[in-house]
Amino acid sequence: MLQRTRNGKGKTVLVAGGAGFVGSHLCDALLARGDRVICVDSYITGSEENIRPLMNHPRFRMIEADVCSLREMDEPVDQVYNLACAASPPQYQADPVHTMMTCVAGTGNLLSLAEQHGASFLQASTSEVYGDPEEHPQREDYRGNVSCTGPRACYDEGKRAAEALCFDMLRAGKVDARVARIFNTYGPRMQPNDGRIISNLLVQAISGTPLTIYGTGEQTRSFCFVSDLVAGLMALMNVDPNPEGPVNLGNPGEFTINELAAMVVEMVPNASEIVYRPLPQDDPQRRRPDISKAKELLTWEPKIPLSEGLKLTADWFVTTLGREAENKAM
Ligand code: NAD
Ligand code: UDP
Repeated sequence: MLQRTRNGKGKTVLVAGGAGFVGSHLCDALLARGDRVICVDSYITGSEENIRPLMNHPRFRMIEADVCSLREMDEPVDQVYNLACAASPPQYQADPVHTMMTCVAGTGNLLSLAEQHGASFLQASTSEVYGDPEEHPQREDYRGNVSCTGPRACYDEGKRAAEALCFDMLRAGKVDARVARIFNTYGPRMQPNDGRIISNLLVQAISGTPLTIYGTGEQTRSFCFVSDLVAGLMALMNVDPNPEGPVNLGNPGEFTINELAAMVVEMVPNASEIVYRPLPQDDPQRRRPDISKAKELLTWEPKIPLSEGLKLTADWFVTTLGREAENKAM
């Protein structure tokens, strides 16, 4: 095991996927707590823009690398968060083999690194491990209904394999591994073109193009604001003892996609009309977390209701899209 060189003032935390939407907010929160942060990211779906304000921070280090080939770290690390993986369906399906390899080889590499350093490990898993669920709401002991051959399998099955790796390393006593099953999360720094529902609807409404709803719009999702999720991830990483099983993190408020679109139309002045498009294959019909376990073990629950988080996100998109338009005009 590598010798610790830090002076006890804070932990050294590796955030894989730290230039992404959730990862960049996690980097912010860790730095604010006094930790040193090593961000590892290939920028495949993340953006340098997300971490630009951190680049000159004395406790921030950026390493541009693909986790599939990351074998070593040249300084001691106390904690590893693995958020490296495209999360939006169009993005993770764009190169499905790389998505699967990121989940399996990438998670394997990061777990080995955590083992070498004696670091705690947190895996960003997903509600997608429940697939198109037959039990509702979803508790952690539900085993899921996932297609292992469909277009979502690279992500769903990749994340299931990653969970298996984490629990094998934990059972073997090699790594203090923890697994968060994250439900749909949204907020500032989502990529305007990443294809997920909240970014799509807000960008369409702000730019006056038709709002796209796939299928009937009666499918449901539960949406968690990013600051709530980050607080949950940090609580899970730091809770003692290790819960030794997956923990759902999400907001249990459940909305149909039609209800969400109606909220966006009401919130954004001059939003265009709604158009219906075909439902993608294997699109889950219902999704709502049972968060009893997180409430009990982490004393955590989300604080920001959808109406409030949506407004914060809409305001951010208005500013960001306005700035992009200004830059193009120059
Ligand atoms: P994101 O796409 O914004 O962030 C993922 C980051 O990982 C990006 O910066 C990307 O460049 C990086 N990355 C991807 N593959 C990589 C690789 N092979 N090597 C190095 N870097 C790589 O997505 P997000 O919404 O911030 O999601 C973060 C994590 O949380 C993901 O693991 C995702 O599966 C999980 N998650 C997110 C949600 C959500 O709703 N946002 C829901 C469930 C799970
Ligand atoms: N969706 C939609 N219009 C869009 C993008 C997504 O109706 O422009 C639907 C999508 O089919 C799914 C839901 O919204 O039923 C949530 O999609 P998202 O991609 O955000 O996440 P996931 O399906 O992974 O939960």
